[in-house]
Amino acid sequence: SKRVAILTSGGDAPGMNACIRAAIIACQKANFTLLGYKHGYNGLLQQEFIPLSLDSTHNLIQQGGTILHSARCKEFKNREGLIKAADNLRQAEIDTLIVIGGDGSFRGAAKLSELWDGQILGIPGTIDNDIAGTDATIGYFTAIDTAMSSIDKVRDTADAFERIFLVEVMGRNAGFLALNGALSAAADYVVVPEFFESAETEIKKIVNQIKAQRALKGPVSFIVVVAENVWPNGLTGLTEALQYHNINDVRPVTLGHVQRGGSPVAQDRLLATTLGEFAISLVGSDVTNIMVGEVNQRPITVPLPKTWEETKPLNQARVDAMRTLMNERYSCD
Ligand code: ATP
Repeated sequence: SKRVAILTSGGDAPGMNACIRAAIIACQKANFTLLGYKHGYNGLLQQEFIPLSLDSTHNLIQQGGTILHSARCKEFKNREGLIKAADNLRQAEIDTLIVIGGDGSFRGAAKLSELWDGQILGIPGTIDNDIAGTDATIGYFTAIDTAMSSIDKVRDTADAFERIFLVEVMGRNAGFLALNGALSAAADYVVVPEFFESAETEIKKIVNQIKAQRALKGPVSFIVVVAENVWPNGLTGLTEALQYHNINDVRPVTLGHVQRGGSPVAQDRLLATTLGEFAISLVGSDVTNIMVGEVNQRPITVPLPKTWEETKPLNQARVDAMRTLMNERYSCD
């Protein structure tokens, strides 16, 4: 019988608990022992683990966050830290380590595999969806929903005051959340890193669109969704750039960490459940140093390095739709 350990690392994401639940139940069925390391890789370094049994699964599927807690772990980035983690895994007689997290967590897992010869399986859990080799990551769908409903609310007040609102959406260095949040909430403009040339070109387009709208209809609301880490100096920089063009009625809104919370939507629960179960089905097989993911609704395995070495493109049809709809408002209205 196998001894499996699981941990959640990096930014928490809705659906991580659903994934843990699936792993618990699948382990129970397979007669594997499942341990949960707490606080990401810190738990691995401190040998801080708890047994996970069916008692832990009650009402777990709908809970946001992660019952194992998550964390960043500086020490794990050093060789001494990795050696200690490998020693601890040997001491706890772990056969398989499952890491639910983002690309940083996978980089760490891949480094660990050089020092530990147990099986390592990654499961993509991040709201950013910035992991290649899987169509979606656990937490992404819920975060789109949160961004969408937040932008809807901003729209209400933007409309009431006929103001310009800038809404910053998370995503690390990728525009998945910003694009899909903007498209689903019918924002007027979206700035994503994938298509960002320069602040000068971008500001010209934004100003032109606002002016065209106002020439046609008088005062109107206008919502610009901006992916984080793309505009120089963030929303402050963009607000100042607009002021420079005599557009002064601008309100910045940073959605921030609300995007990481909440009960997972159905799609995240389904992805998390499928991937949790699929990962456990691989325990004891000779695949290792891989991530499990889903492509076209089928579970797949991808070598860990591929998940960060390859750049995952935005869905082109969504990009086209956003472009058409952004422009159509001004040419057709
Ligand atoms: P998210 O993108 O959702 O925040 P993430 O997994 O990418 O998730 P990171 O903070 O980048 O989050 O990484 C989580 C942890 O993984 C780090 O705190 C560190 O312990 C470990 N880690 C990251 N990069 C490396 C690396 N190059 N080598 C070893 N460990 C790493």
